[in-house]
Amino acid sequence: MTESQIPEFTAIAYEKPAAHIARISLDRADKRNAQDTNLLYELNAAMDLANRDDEVKVIILAANGEHFSAGHDVTESDPKAEMAKWKPIGTWCGFGCATSSVESQMTREKEIYIGFSERWRNIAKPTIAQVQGKCIAGGLMLVWPCDLIVASEDALFMDNTVAMGVCGVEFFAHPWEMGLRQAKEFLFTSGWLGAQDAWRMGMVNHVVAPEKLAEFTLALAANIAQKPSFALKLAKEALNAAQDASGRVSAMQTAFALHQVSHAHNMQRFGLLVDPSGMPRMTKVPASQPAEK
Ligand code: ZN
Repeated sequence: MTESQIPEFTAIAYEKPAAHIARISLDRADKRNAQDTNLLYELNAAMDLANRDDEVKVIILAANGEHFSAGHDVTESDPKAEMAKWKPIGTWCGFGCATSSVESQMTREKEIYIGFSERWRNIAKPTIAQVQGKCIAGGLMLVWPCDLIVASEDALFMDNTVAMGVCGVEFFAHPWEMGLRQAKEFLFTSGWLGAQDAWRMGMVNHVVAPEKLAEFTLALAANIAQKPSFALKLAKEALNAAQDASGRVSAMQTAFALHQVSHAHNMQRFGLLVDPSGMPRMTKVPASQPAEK
């Protein structure tokens, strides 16, 4: 694929830094890579681009700027109008089918949150997340679907949804990423998880110095790219099947349904998708950071 065939992305950067490797970078550094509708659809389009390019064998998902991602951008003014600009990837109703309702919220989240994350998790080619700085809530739903995670020493992970009256992010992979007890503490406390602790739990493959992050990740991708592409795809499929045999998919569907209950509860009680009393407890997140959930 030539550079001229790469679409005009506005919220992500797409490049091929070495043979057989595509690198997709979140490129909203001024917003701490908060994920609005456009960013997520562009990321999905970039994943498809890399997956359909026969020359590419390994995909790196990185982020420009100080932080990987602040999570979902809840400051987006008209998310429904933004969604209407894109062709749906899912099989639920069109986005104009419901007004503000449990149905429209669930449809949106099925499409761009759990839908995209599950889709990226099942991309045939190996994927590597390259993470620096803060990776909060929705940020986890970008790195967890990747096959490998390389973290900078300064990387910090958090799912603060429980503090805001929600039972965890939509792509509920916590038990498989860090083990059941650690997942419970991670969710119950809504606290930060450092890179070294994430590595100890098995959530992260490598922790490297910030200045070595891109170089290390690229070298790891190059190592993998030396192997036969079909064998890589088959190994990934086999390992993912082992994970799914543990009941991952049905457990995550249950968690997603409970997540919708929590949104409906908060909407009924507070008129918001989240419990506002949890917002002040997010004291460790700088005030300049876009709100996340
Ligand atoms: Zn949600």
